Amino acid sequence: MKIQIITLFPEMFPAVMDNSMMLKAQKNGQLDISYIDLRDFGIGPRKTVDDTPYGGGDGMLLMPEPIFNAVETAKNNDKQAKVLLMTPVGSKWKQEVAQNLSSEGGLILICGRYEGYDERILSVVDQKISIGDYVLTGGEIPAMVVVDSVVRLIPGVLGGETSAQKESFSDGKTLEHPHYTRPEDYEGMKVPSVLLSGNHADIEKWRKDNSISSSE
Ligand code: SAM
Repeated sequence: MKIQIITLFPEMFPAVMDNSMMLKAQKNGQLDISYIDLRDFGIGPRKTVDDTPYGGGDGMLLMPEPIFNAVETAKNNDKQAKVLLMTPVGSKWKQEVAQNLSSEGGLILICGRYEGYDERILSVVDQKISIGDYVLTGGEIPAMVVVDSVVRLIPGVLGGETSAQKESFSDGKTLEHPHYTRPEDYEGMKVPSVLLSGNHADIEKWRKDNSISSSE
């Protein structure tokens, strides 16, 4: 999957994207991630990307022109890519949406900043995404959440270590059962005996009984 991230802060990403599973996915050719610095599309000698809102009010907004030009550049690299805008007014991010997007060939993520963006950019956006009912300073952390949760669902990224099909929310509602590892007895806290029994049917039943439904 080709992922292009439009951001004023590309330097925020490598610590998350160039480690662990995301690094492995890049090395295996399952993820090609790149960053488009919105500042490069800024206007005038100061490369301005923001301006005050019409009608007054606090803060600054991302202007349309730099975003339109950045999206056009990204589309020239990948014409079929879906454009996702990170915004608290988007639809709530869920495992089911991540699952659907994991079969896309390419994604372009736009990270907002300041008080937000000029509404006219929505004409180039396919999907508005909120990662929850709270406000962050910028769209970079939401973009990392989206990329991580989508990429780990691309077949082969997790390998045999973890089955994405058995994790929490994989059926939209069930939360995973508890897990235990060594030692069997940690300071008086014991591993449930059924897990040591070797009886796979009983273990499966225990796991099913100890999975719970999410409240949403
Ligand atoms: N004024 C906006 C509002 O009240 O909805 C908040 C703007 S926020 C300070 C700046 C940017 O951070 C947003 O444009 C968006 O890109 C990103 N952002 C903040 N919270 C987010 C969330 N919960 N989900 C997705 N993006 C978020």
